[in-house]
Amino acid sequence: AHRRGGAEVVRYRPGTYEAARARIDIERDLRRALDDDGLQLAYQPQVSLVDGSLVGAEALVRWHDLERGTVSPDEFIPVAEDSGLVVDLGAWAVDAALEAIAAGLEGVVVSVNVSARQLDDPGLVAAAEAALARHDVDPRWLRLEITESALVRDAEHASALLRRLHDLGLRVSIDDFGTGYATLEHLRRVDVADSLKIDRTFVSGIVHDARDRAIVGAAVALGRSLGFTVVAEGVEDAAQAELLAEMGCDAGQGYHFGEPTTPEALARRAAG
Ligand code: C2E
Ligand code: CA
Ligand code: CA
Ligand code: CA
Repeated sequence: AHRRGGAEVVRYRPGTYEAARARIDIERDLRRALDDDGLQLAYQPQVSLVDGSLVGAEALVRWHDLERGTVSPDEFIPVAEDSGLVVDLGAWAVDAALEAIAAGLEGVVVSVNVSARQLDDPGLVAAAEAALARHDVDPRWLRLEITESALVRDAEHASALLRRLHDLGLRVSIDDFGTGYATLEHLRRVDVADSLKIDRTFVSGIVHDARDRAIVGAAVALGRSLGFTVVAEGVEDAAQAELLAEMGCDAGQGYHFGEPTTPEALARRAAG
């Protein structure tokens, strides 16, 4: 066991009875949080590497549980994916993001994560359409992030689905690029996506590791030449930001530009 966010986080050996029990408990408590307004979205700024302006934000789910304390998405999203709860969680996130856009974030492109499991949900497009109808916002302010690995898993199905979402006026982004074994053929096929996010595992090494620098440079050039807006994840210092700008990367997201924050704080930043 170790401490995180003030609460005891207990890890069990996978495959044991205790591990299964712990997952069932997380699933039950997460379901309750989802039903009882116990989840929030935090918005992390995405900043232009050309002029420093705010160009977007990624909505990241936050769960503060009375007994568990703050639970990390890395802990509960996999459970939500296995149990199917991520379908409802994803629908909630789209709704909450649209509400925030309507309440003062219009002008900032807000990205919401869509898990691979949601792509299997036959109700996904209808749910997105219904959410857009509930909130009077221009759909172009909402962007759905699909991981590269989800895209590759069933490329034909995924690209057809992305096209239908794009036809609703939403934007689509390829997330965690570099970690999911996409081929050039995949990239060519998802022509509805307008943005590509380079995974932070590559970005973190660019200042000191020539190979990481070469990989990120090539990914930026490829993405840009295919017409994507390229966003680097996990930018933690000015040296990384400077190198990325030199490579022609469009935008950065990471602690250097700001941690995930409330929609109000982000709106103030957008205005100021
Ligand atoms: P992700 O999509 O790759 O999101 C970026 C993660 O990197 C976030 O972690 C963010 O807080 C963290 N991060 C941001 N800047 C930095 C930095 O400069 N350095 C480092 N080391 N990390 C940084 P978070 O919020 O813990 O989320 C983890 C993952 O959980 C996300 O990874 C995403 O895959 C998933 N997730 C979060 N919210 C949702 C959601 O609403 N739906 C779904 N399906 N997945 C979500
Ligand atoms: Ca993401
Ligand atoms: Ca990502
Ligand atoms: Ca990532």
